[in-house]
Amino acid sequence: TDLAQLLDSRIRDVPDYPKPGVLFKDIAPLLADAEAFAALTRALAERARELGATKVVGLEARGFVLAAPAAFAAGLGFVPIRKKGKLPGEVFARSYELEYGSATLEVQCDAFAPGEKVLVVDDVLATGGTIAASLDLVQEAGAELVGVVVLMELGFLPGRERLLPHLGGAPLETL
Ligand code: IMP
Repeated sequence: TDLAQLLDSRIRDVPDYPKPGVLFKDIAPLLADAEAFAALTRALAERARELGATKVVGLEARGFVLAAPAAFAAGLGFVPIRKKGKLPGEVFARSYELEYGSATLEVQCDAFAPGEKVLVVDDVLATGGTIAASLDLVQEAGAELVGVVVLMELGFLPGRERLLPHLGGAPLETL
């Protein structure tokens, strides 16, 4: 589509970052381009409305940059899922395995009111560990998942298959 082509044209491939052998997808040029960033924000906001979301959830840190303006454009609130130790008060926590070691994500226990419907947004779906942990947190916090939208999906990794058991039938979409 025109949108996918526009977004793709503003994503930069950086070889050997953050370490040798990794091809890093850099979204800085997309964020810096007013037209592409607006088109991305509008597309996310449109999906949030179409899916009936009442909150847009962004994953630290690049997910925040995409989800917060989309929430605003859709007339919805924004909820952050953050790395361990950044959120005050009671939190739910989920750990997941990284290539080396593990990471923990958290959401505030009172982030969602009963019956709230959530769209989860992040920049890149790679192995799926980050989003899988986030979907478990959304569920634990009592919200209903209505969809996951990512800017891009690394098709050579089994992220989509890994997420399937965590989606509960909600769609996983890539822009
Ligand atoms: P996963 O947990 O392996 O799916 O990795 C996804 C997380 O790592 C996302 O939050 C991304 O921000 C980040 N990530 C993984 N690969 C890339 C990349 O090539 N560019 C930018 N972010 C990436």
